[in-house]
Amino acid sequence: MKEKLQKIRENAIAQIENSDGLAKLNDVRVAVLGKKGELTAVLKSMKEVAPEDRPKVGQWVNETRQEIENKLDEMKKKLEAAELEHRLENEVIDVTLPAKKNRVGHSHPNTMVLEEVERIFTGMGYEVVEGPEVEYDYYNFEALNIPANHPAKDEQDTFYINDKILLRTQTSPVQVRVMEQKKPPIRMIAPGRVFRADEVDATHSPSFHQIEGMVIDKGITFSNLKGTLTQFVQKLFGKETKVKFRPHHFPFTEPSAEMDVSCFKCGGKGCRFCKGEGWIEILGCGMVHPRVLRMSGIDPEEYSGFAFGIGLERITLLKYEIDDMRLLYENDDRFLKQF
Ligand SMILES: [Zn+2]
Repeated sequence: MKEKLQKIRENAIAQIENSDGLAKLNDVRVAVLGKKGELTAVLKSMKEVAPEDRPKVGQWVNETRQEIENKLDEMKKKLEAAELEHRLENEVIDVTLPAKKNRVGHSHPNTMVLEEVERIFTGMGYEVVEGPEVEYDYYNFEALNIPANHPAKDEQDTFYINDKILLRTQTSPVQVRVMEQKKPPIRMIAPGRVFRADEVDATHSPSFHQIEGMVIDKGITFSNLKGTLTQFVQKLFGKETKVKFRPHHFPFTEPSAEMDVSCFKCGGKGCRFCKGEGWIEILGCGMVHPRVLRMSGIDPEEYSGFAFGIGLERITLLKYEIDDMRLLYENDDRFLKQF
């Protein structure tokens, strides 16, 4: 019996070692250890073994089985490794295939202009601050000297959420929020999105951007306002740019003005771009109303200041000579790629 098992083992190991693939190896496993395998046959013939020898023979069979199984596993690992190596050797990368191109976008024209405006003002020592887009009626109107019956509060122009809360129609409420929190001197700009119930056309959108600016300190005069804004437009549109102030009315500034710049296309001679005027309207500004200062907790006897509001889209349209504001919001790749 022992010799028989010895023979089965030697035979099996020889076959395992000669296997040249995983399929062949499996054949050997079935032939030896399978239901009708050689070793299984030996187990079945145990009844012919004398009862007192059975434990010993059983042990031999188990040892043989274990040895063959170990050898099978070992060989399987070897063959799998060889197969993987073979596959890797044959998988060649074709380096002549064209590569996938990743398109890289760039900043939106509005963002590029905003970054430039921020750079100019931070260069003059201004802080860039932000305020909420969903705002209290108080900050958007009342604290800016726009009482309840003022035409600017007309519901036609404002998206109300309820009696007290609205989508801000201007970035000016940020002025009030900053004045409430900080002691002068204050030098800030506040860019951001604003909302008006306007129909969409070439120059209007229900959502657009403003850049608010404000300076509060002792002895601030209109000449500081003029000097600052002249500096600003000359950096933005070129050194030769001239400015012109036209009296205007804003509830939160007194005196108030609209500022024009000399046309940077024709230098002021008059062209199609400036509609023959030679001047282009660019922003609204004025000296902060004493009542607004007082409401925000700043003594108008001690401090004064100026404020201005710039329409970001207006500057972008002018700077890049775009004639329809809608193009800025459509996200048309063919349009945006030009800038
Ligand atoms: Zn012109």
